[in-house]
Amino acid sequence: MSNSLPLRPELRGRSAYGAPQLDVTIRLNTNENSWPLPDGLSQAVARAVGEVAGGLNRYPDRDAAALRSDLAAYLGHDLTAAQLWPANGSNEILQQLLQAFGGAGRSALGFTPSYSMHPLISLSTGTSWHDGPREADFGIDPARAAAAVREHRPDVVFVTSPNNPTGTAVSLEVITAVYAEAPGMVIVDEAYAEFARPGTPSALELLSGRERLVVTRTMSKAFGMAGLRLGYLAADPAVVEALQLVRLPYHLSTLTQVVARVALSYRHELLATVQRVCEQRDRIAAALPELGLRAVPSDANFLLVGGFPDSHKAWQVLLDHGVLVRDLEIAGHLRITAGTPAETDALLAALPAVHEAVPELSSDRGQSAS
Ligand SMILES: *Cc1c(COP(=O)(O)O)cnc(C)c1O
Repeated sequence: MSNSLPLRPELRGRSAYGAPQLDVTIRLNTNENSWPLPDGLSQAVARAVGEVAGGLNRYPDRDAAALRSDLAAYLGHDLTAAQLWPANGSNEILQQLLQAFGGAGRSALGFTPSYSMHPLISLSTGTSWHDGPREADFGIDPARAAAAVREHRPDVVFVTSPNNPTGTAVSLEVITAVYAEAPGMVIVDEAYAEFARPGTPSALELLSGRERLVVTRTMSKAFGMAGLRLGYLAADPAVVEALQLVRLPYHLSTLTQVVARVALSYRHELLATVQRVCEQRDRIAAALPELGLRAVPSDANFLLVGGFPDSHKAWQVLLDHGVLVRDLEIAGHLRITAGTPAETDALLAALPAVHEAVPELSSDRGQSAS
């Protein structure tokens, strides 16, 4: 990036969000749902788009009323449309929340390692950042979490459950402990909620009577609609009203609104793949020990796999075998998305090469690369 541009000082020298988008057949690096979309969905999308296309000379429904009703019905928990708010991916939701509740002179706290966009969006909205503590098993201890909140007094706290990149879900006790101590907003990022094991509670259960609590969700993961860009939140109606001050006018296109509604009407078919993805996740986890690897127990559609002697090299070796996974710079670990049985086959066929490559092959490579 040019050093001569008058960029804001806090953005200088930073790197952009950049999971590589490479042309590889087996892409297990961004936690999308790789199962094919259900029969009939693409025709239904085409029909719905055709019906509204003639009206594209007009701005969309600024309040996305119909979509918000559908989202409330999907989530249940007696939520109403006034408690739902959609945007272009949950990243935009997070940005709107920080624009409204973070900003200059304010701070946010998250329990790292977690989703890299939480600190990045904080930074871009002028919100300073504090790392909160995780335990050795990547869980969050309610008392230690509450103590971190007491110490830093953040205006916004992020709790990701199930967490990306570790897959760990937290108990509601963690949320209530953090909420009781937090002076500001508590955002529970539930991007992977639909993959959680049965009995894993959602923070949606806690919304009633907690005005500063927000739950964010997305259609990018379990719903298999990453290309649609549709995320949303559930919260007290006062939170939704506050966001009207920062959202751009007509932020959500007519096309996004209608296609999201079609996808919601196919929710049973779309979510039918969730169980199949979880089976592949568990199949990968079960195969790891005999490869000298291990996974953090996961409630999401991915595994944080540890035990790689050199995770950077392992990432490259897998890529050389046509399998793209995610290197999040956690020493010895790679994050691997679970998908279809064929993808698991390819991954499990490629994984042994990771060991063959270290250290013998790696020294060869080191020489040829330098
Ligand atoms: C993938 C992901 C998101 C989703 O982002 P979208 O903008 O909705 O695609 C949000 N939070 C976490 C923790 C994620 O992993």
